[in-house]
Amino acid sequence: MAQVILKDIVKKFGKTEVVHGISLDIGNKEFVVLVGPSGCGKSTVLRMVAGLEKITAGSVSIGERIVNDVAPKDRDVAMVFQNYALYPHMNVFNNMSFGLKLSKTPKAEILERVNEAANILGLEELLQRKPHQLSGGQRQRVAMGRAIVRKPSVFLFDEPLSNLDAKLRTQMRTEIKRLHQKVQATIIYVTHDQVEAMTLADRIVVMRNGHIEQVGQPMELFQNPTNTFVAGFIGSPP
Ligand code: ADP
Ligand code: MG
Repeated sequence: MAQVILKDIVKKFGKTEVVHGISLDIGNKEFVVLVGPSGCGKSTVLRMVAGLEKITAGSVSIGERIVNDVAPKDRDVAMVFQNYALYPHMNVFNNMSFGLKLSKTPKAEILERVNEAANILGLEELLQRKPHQLSGGQRQRVAMGRAIVRKPSVFLFDEPLSNLDAKLRTQMRTEIKRLHQKVQATIIYVTHDQVEAMTLADRIVVMRNGHIEQVGQPMELFQNPTNTFVAGFIGSPP
């Protein structure tokens, strides 16, 4: 059963249409990766699912509910950005629990959720540190921790690794895969990195100029690209 359904979603900024009617069914607990060149509309699609961008036409459903008019915090999604701004004056524990405090989650439950997320991400020893005392990879893990503690059924990742160096990116890919297995949630993951797409995805969605070129399992796209654009994008070396 689909967890997220995009039905003919269109986005215009002023008179310029940047997403031209995209439809996609994403299964429960599926890991879907949106790839495509810069400017093709990946972030805009993700932001429409998150509710950070109003859709011009079409509908977004999450868990069988049309969420077009539902506020981001009530959509059962959590987003991890490329520029994961952590609060510099707060330690890791407080960075991770801030949203839960705002939503008046009981203290005992906050403690339990933060500990669980810290365990998944290997942050147990770092909970008292401030962001400036962490490496780039550790900071990115805290940003993921902030999403995990909310226990959403859908995670949205927008190029979460693009600020990290190549070696760390490889390591974090493995962590994100592990995270997916542990949290048992649906993931929509945006990247322009072909290797990331090939290694993480259950299905890859290749986008170009605001529309979908092809959708398929990684090997399916690799072996049977429907056109030279997809072939060039998936087949070209990293
Ligand atoms: P991607 O994430 O694939 O790089 P985006 O979704 O960020 O692409 O952008 C798609 C298109 O929409 C681009 O042409 C971009 O310039 C345009 N765009 C994105 N956000 C805005 C905005 N707030 N106002 C106007 N145009 C925007
Ligand atoms: Mg983007």
